[in-house]
Amino acid sequence: MTRSAIYLDHNASAPLLPEARAAMLAALDLVGNPSSVHGHGRALRNLIETGRDQVARLAGAERKQVVFTGSATEAITQAIVGGAKALKVERIVISAGEHAAVGKAAEATGLPVVVVGLDADGVIRTDEIAVALQQDGIALVAVHAVNNETGVVQPLAKIEALVGPTPHYLFIDAVQALGKLDLDFAARPADMMALSAHKIGGPVGIGALLVKSHADTVRLIPGGGQEQGRRGGTESASLVAGFGAAAEAFAQHYDAALVAKLTFELMYRLRELNGDLVVFGEKAQRVGNVVDFAVPGLKNAVAMMGLDLMGISVSSGSACSSGKVGPSHVLAAMGVAPELSDCALRASLGWNSTEEDVSAFLSGFEQVLDRHRRRQGQAA
Ligand code: PLP
Repeated sequence: MTRSAIYLDHNASAPLLPEARAAMLAALDLVGNPSSVHGHGRALRNLIETGRDQVARLAGAERKQVVFTGSATEAITQAIVGGAKALKVERIVISAGEHAAVGKAAEATGLPVVVVGLDADGVIRTDEIAVALQQDGIALVAVHAVNNETGVVQPLAKIEALVGPTPHYLFIDAVQALGKLDLDFAARPADMMALSAHKIGGPVGIGALLVKSHADTVRLIPGGGQEQGRRGGTESASLVAGFGAAAEAFAQHYDAALVAKLTFELMYRLRELNGDLVVFGEKAQRVGNVVDFAVPGLKNAVAMMGLDLMGISVSSGSACSSGKVGPSHVLAAMGVAPELSDCALRASLGWNSTEEDVSAFLSGFEQVLDRHRRRQGQAA
């Protein structure tokens, strides 16, 4: 991407890492089907198994636990829709802060869906999970590790302590946590976990479901037996190679302390520009790359348009697939008033963010604020 444009939307999709690009280009020059037993096929199979090792390492999983899918959304759907059937689940427990991929998959099971709340800081109400687990029938609990809008880190250890000793199952949407938290999939009590390549500088179009052996029959696409029968369809060696290379190289590019420093500076200086600034989830533990904020009265659609004209990309709390700015169900669950939620903007930094990006964003936002103040003055 061009560096003249300011991209602060890593939570939507991170720019491709150079290692991922190189690995994909090299794989694109190979011909064959990774299931073929001849040399051409074996070369592609080799790339896929290397990619599997690389992804497994970053997620703390065993290689045999990694199933490649077409996206995290597909992995989530496999875990929830496929899991409901294979594991004889009778109800799904999700939180009110889940990504639509989780909410829609829960709905698609046709089973009763129990939705537990978030507190005012955006943290999942574990007391409500405890209550939900007491009802009759096997439950599949599906929760996220890190919120894509607020960056709030969820109390997974607490949730696992509740679900682990019971016959219920636990699925974790770890899309926004990969590379930022130690996931340690193999060692933790969770049964399944979903990952996405493009949030860590890998390609769009590939995700992974991590699955423990007792849940190995969880299927969505049976097909031709690929991925040990766990996900049919000829594997894309270039996408797997890109995901694997990104997983291996991410830590060299993503300096968590630097990203957190830049993000904190952005938040601090925003508050200097406007004392009324609200930061959502501010009191909770958060990953250090995102600020979800609002200036009361300044609508996010207006602010985003102004910033976009200056070549600065941030996000509203939630972007609908239609490209329109929609109300945030996460902020609603936190008890944020709709008028304030309409003002929510998310700046998310990542592996290639710089001090210059932060300064350019702040000077752009200052202009947006000036215009807003002038409009308010005219209206008064
Ligand atoms: N879960 C979370 C928390 C996300 O942030 C996203 C993407 O924004 C997804 C799931 C879906 O990921 P994918 O685009 O790979 O389907």
